[in-house]
Amino acid sequence: MYKEVTEKNIILESIASKDYLTNMYNHKSFYDLLNNIMKSSEKNNDTFCLALLDIDDFKLVNDTFGHLAGDMVLKELSSIFQSNIRSQDIVARYGGEEFAIIFPETSINDARKICERIRNLVENHTFSIENKKVKITISGGVGEALSSETLTKQQGLVNYVDKLLYDTKNDGKNQIKYNNNTICMV
Ligand code: GH3
Ligand code: MG
Ligand code: MG
Repeated sequence: MYKEVTEKNIILESIASKDYLTNMYNHKSFYDLLNNIMKSSEKNNDTFCLALLDIDDFKLVNDTFGHLAGDMVLKELSSIFQSNIRSQDIVARYGGEEFAIIFPETSINDARKICERIRNLVENHTFSIENKKVKITISGGVGEALSSETLTKQQGLVNYVDKLLYDTKNDGKNQIKYNNNTICMV
């Protein structure tokens, strides 16, 4: 009985931490995991990076091919993300068509290269949805951070990277913007 309850709890926890469509970590888990990385960054004095990536003109994909096809694109895109990050990196579905990647103990140069590779792969990928060929592009922002006195500074980092992502949208999309300065979260 106890074993059964424990097993059920593990299953429920896993469902609660993952997004049902893409099986990626969900918004809440993203913040929990970011907490952990920030704590370890503070403890070990290691920089880490955060990227936010958003599908360009996704509304148009839904309008053209239907919402269900849009869902299939999200699913397929999530496997591109998951198979092109390193084992230590963490990818989450941050929002509807927006994804976050946490790169522990990573410099901005390495994180930017991984994001750029994913951006390029997506640009060259054809999504085959119900015999239709769908093409998309993604844009992103990447920032490097060094954490001290964690927790309260989380939203500041997310906003900082979100601003870079926002800039790509006004600057032609299909690109990754980054900043070479380490954000020291004191
Ligand atoms: P931009 O390049 O500025 O990001 O344009 P956009 O169209 O991608 O952005 P906008 O914020 O205008 O629209 C987001 C779209 O993403 C609209 C919404 O219906 C779609 N979307 C969000 N979540 C889902 C989902 O789970 N499934 C599907 N099919 N569509 C989704
Ligand atoms: Mg979008
Ligand atoms: Mg968006």
